Order: sequence, then C-alpha cells, then structure tokens
Amino acid sequence: MTAWNVQLKAWGALRENESMARHTTLGVGGPARWYFKPENRDAVIHAMKCIPSDLPLLPLGRGSNLLVSDDGFSGLVMDLSCLSGIYRDGKQVTAEAGARMNKLSQRCADAGLAGLEFMATVPGDMGGGIAMNAGAFGQQVSDTLQWVEVVNIDGESVRLDAKMLDMAYRHTRLPEGSLVLSACFELQPDEPEAIKQRMRTMRKKRSSTQPLEKPNCGSVFKNPPGDHAARLIEAAGLKGFRVGGACISAKHANFIINEGQARSSDVRELIRHTRQTVEQRFGIRLEPEVCTLGDKL
Ligand SMILES: Cc1cc2nc3c(=O)[nH]c(=O)nc-3n(C[C@H](O)[C@H](O)[C@H](O)COP(=O)(O)OP(=O)(O)OC[C@H]3O[C@@H](n4cnc5c(N)ncnc54)[C@H](O)[C@@H]3O)c2cc1C
Repeated sequence: MTAWNVQLKAWGALRENESMARHTTLGVGGPARWYFKPENRDAVIHAMKCIPSDLPLLPLGRGSNLLVSDDGFSGLVMDLSCLSGIYRDGKQVTAEAGARMNKLSQRCADAGLAGLEFMATVPGDMGGGIAMNAGAFGQQVSDTLQWVEVVNIDGESVRLDAKMLDMAYRHTRLPEGSLVLSACFELQPDEPEAIKQRMRTMRKKRSSTQPLEKPNCGSVFKNPPGDHAARLIEAAGLKGFRVGGACISAKHANFIINEGQARSSDVRELIRHTRQTVEQRFGIRLEPEVCTLGDKL
C-alpha cells in the first residue's frame, strides 16, 4: 500500500519542516513536521481518510490565534485556505472554512444581511472563527450559527446543529480530531449602508485602540467575568513590560506584540509573568484566549 505521505502529494502540496512563524500573525514558532495544503474539498476529505490516526493534526486558518512552540509541532498542519466559498440562500449564508471572516461580513453587508458585522475586524478564517466562537462588539459566531459541517477522523462529513457544539464565550466543542468544512448562518435583513456604517465604526475603533501595525495574536487572555483582562494588566503596571523581543503593548494591555526578533519562549514567559502578577495583585487568574501548540503555559 502507498505510504500516506506519498498519497497526500497527489492531492495538494505537502512540505516537511515548514516554519510556523510564516503561518501565524505573531510570527513566532518552530517547524511543523508536516504541512499540507490540499487543493480542494475532496483533497481535505481524502487526507482525513489516509493520515495515520496517531499523527497529531492541526487544522489551520490564518494563524491569528496561535502560539506555536519554538520546538515546533511533530504532527501535520492542514492549511484550509482552499475552502473559500461563500453562498447565499435568502437569509441564510453558508461559508467554507477557509473563507476570510472580513470577506464574509463584507459579502453579507452587500447583500443587506446583518449579524456578522464584527467579523470585519477579526483577521481569521471562518473555520477558526467557529473553533474559537469569535466575537466582538457584542456579537459572536454562536448568535447566528445554524449548523456546521465537519469531517471526522474517519473521513466522514457530518452536519451538526449549532446547539450540539456547547458554544460559549470563546469556546466551541467540536468532535475530537475533526475539522470544520463549512458553516451556515441565519442573518437579519437590514439596509446595506446601515450595516456598512456599523462595520466602519467598528474598524475605526479597532485601529485606534489596538496595535495593528505590529505582529500580534489579538487578545492574549479571555476577559474574566465582569472585568477586562486589559484593565487588570494595565492596573498591574505591565503595559510596555517586555521579555526578549516580546512586549505588552502600550496601546492595548491585552495584546503582546512581536518587536521583530521575539521567540515563542519570550511570549510564553511574558504570558506566565502577566498571569502571576495579576493573580498576586488582584486574586484573579487570567485564562489564555490564544491557542498554544507545544509547551504548556
Ligand atoms: C489583530 C487581531 C484582532 C483580533 N480580534 C479578535 C476579536 O475581536 N474577536 C475574536 O474573537 N478574536 C480576535 N482575534 C483572534 C483570532 O483572529 C480569532 O480567534 C479567529 O477566530 C482565529 O481564526 P484563524 O483562522 O486565524 O484561526 P487559527 O489561529 O488558524 O486557529 C485557531 C484555532 O482554531 C482551530 N481551527 C482553525 N480552523 C479550523 C477548522 N477549519 N476546523 C477546526 N478547527 C480549526 C485551530 O486548530 C486552532 O486551534 C484577533 C486576532 C488578531 C491578530
């Protein structure tokens, strides 16, 4: 029987020891042992059927919420950017996992469909948005999500009602080892110009309050109930605090920025120090929002 990696090469680009710093917005992280970029949906499903069940798998969107260890990842990263379709049927919009969230929100606004405006400010893909239950400005993915289609570890595609995913603030429970292929949202009709105006206001607020000019991974910590992680970090005097090439943004205290030469270990050390300092000062343990791959925090 042909080895799984030889089979995969017929379905897309398979690379070995691919630097994850190139595939994360924070720009840090060591190599992935295998990096597979399938060429289409059939290739994604085929890959799920033939990769060994004991090989760790990471579905990858835009890497905008990922901190990968300097030691890299010993499994297979599957880049889902080939799945970029967006389809409309009345008030329902179905998007594939690799569709960029800002493109999805723009398409919905053009069609006069409201509910995904916040996605204009989130730099990830729709699949990552589902996995994280992304949200901002009082909206989140779970508000309008109807169903998701996943492919499981046996290579079967299954449609799951949104109610089965246990979605909460920055939390979604996807079946173990599965990845999202597509998702359907039910939206509300509204004037396109009114929707676009809300999106402009959100974008403007973002660019004035977040350090978007430097590599980062968005909010590092979840907001604790009734408070804001940024407020606590700032009150602990940590704005501008640095470890190696990683620094707590002076513009937004819940953002860590890569000043250019940061290593993943610098970011982890900064996260540990921030958690420890905030816990000592306020008795509140911050929970990371960023997904980590490799070393534990
Ligand atoms: C400047 C900036 C601003 C941000 N603002 C916000 C914000 O306002 N609100 C917010 O919620 N987030 C925000 N984020 C964080 C991030 O953009 C979101 O979490 C986004 O949903 C991640 O999408 P992604 O495609 O980049 O996912 P990735 O970072 O590639 O992956 C994140 C996780 O999702 C999993 N995943 C990705 N695709 C799939 C798939 N198809 N199936 C199953 N699992 C998958 C990955 O394995 C990983 O565990 C921000 C980030 C940045 C850099």
